[in-house]
Amino acid sequence: MVPRAQMANDALWSPVVRGLVPYTPGEQPRLSGLVKLNTNENPYPPSPRVIDAITAAAQQGLQLYPDPESTALRQAIGTYHGLDAACIFPGNGSDEVLAHAFFAFFQQTQPLLVPDVTYSFYRVYCQLYGIRAQLVPLDASLQIHVADYAARPAGGVVIANPNAPTGTALPLAEIESLLSSQPDTVVLVDEAYVDFGAQSAMALIPSHPNLLVVHTLSKSRSLAGLRVGFAAGQPHLIDALVRVKNSFNSYPLDRLAVAGAVAAYEDVAYFEQTRHAVMQSRDALTLELWRLGFEVLPSAANFVFARHPAHDGAALAARLREHGVLVRHFAQPRIDPYLRITIGTPTQCEALMRALKHSLSFGAAQK
Ligand code: PMP
Repeated sequence: MVPRAQMANDALWSPVVRGLVPYTPGEQPRLSGLVKLNTNENPYPPSPRVIDAITAAAQQGLQLYPDPESTALRQAIGTYHGLDAACIFPGNGSDEVLAHAFFAFFQQTQPLLVPDVTYSFYRVYCQLYGIRAQLVPLDASLQIHVADYAARPAGGVVIANPNAPTGTALPLAEIESLLSSQPDTVVLVDEAYVDFGAQSAMALIPSHPNLLVVHTLSKSRSLAGLRVGFAAGQPHLIDALVRVKNSFNSYPLDRLAVAGAVAAYEDVAYFEQTRHAVMQSRDALTLELWRLGFEVLPSAANFVFARHPAHDGAALAARLREHGVLVRHFAQPRIDPYLRITIGTPTQCEALMRALKHSLSFGAAQK
């Protein structure tokens, strides 16, 4: 269609939309045959029980709207974590849950405290909702120091534990001290990667009315394609999220997603087996990266964050791509030399190592 009159692309946009810098997800390549280690998906498929449950759900009731409260899923998640269903708020991926939480809790006069290196979507939500963020620098070894978040006026705190893209984790005692140091504001702990070796703060929920923990089924439960995540917290926090959700979309989770997600929580054995396989591969890969001269941050996640002292991060990522391996590079201050490498199957890790050996020998003096 030919436009009748020329108009600037953004002429009809609202000022907020003109100012947005949206989040850029990792590449989802159309080419097959690439070894995809760039978006922290699980290399293993979901439990066969998930597929059975989705197939059964597809055969009945799709003409009807789903339960707006996803009651079955809230019960399954609550049972797994030893919490009442009233403490669980599920959504269409944890990104949606995070967006609702930012809207519900962080539009305050005081700034939201956010690490300077963390999941970059947090700053996008701040822009979208007009939330003032104050960046709190990680230390020289890219660790979060909870003392840096204490005794500052704050309209909220958000951290990822393990952090992304660094993969490093804080012990529970430090999360507890963070919660106690900011008792009058919501502390959101994004535990997207917690099942790969960090301590969860779920157990602190009954004793901390200001704690909101966010989880996803995209990583340790192999369900990135289903789009399910949730927040856990005391019911007064969940009520706020429900108000936002019911002012936005009554049915964020469809019938197939609820059926699949419930089955994923029921198949504990499969979950344990696959997350341990990923952790084992991570530890083996870390050793091999050391042998090639990489510095690797200690990871409690399903990825490692690594740099080679003799190689430029962007150039190395580009060279790996030529060898058919996708990893993630962030062209950002402080983390520019690093690659974030998702843990694959043992076969994928071997392909990565072969590609790395070629890439390192090719570009030896590239830095
Ligand atoms: N939090 C963190 C720290 C993440 O890395 C991701 C994945 N990109 C998410 C949340 C969002 O995950 P999802 O929307 O797939 O649940």
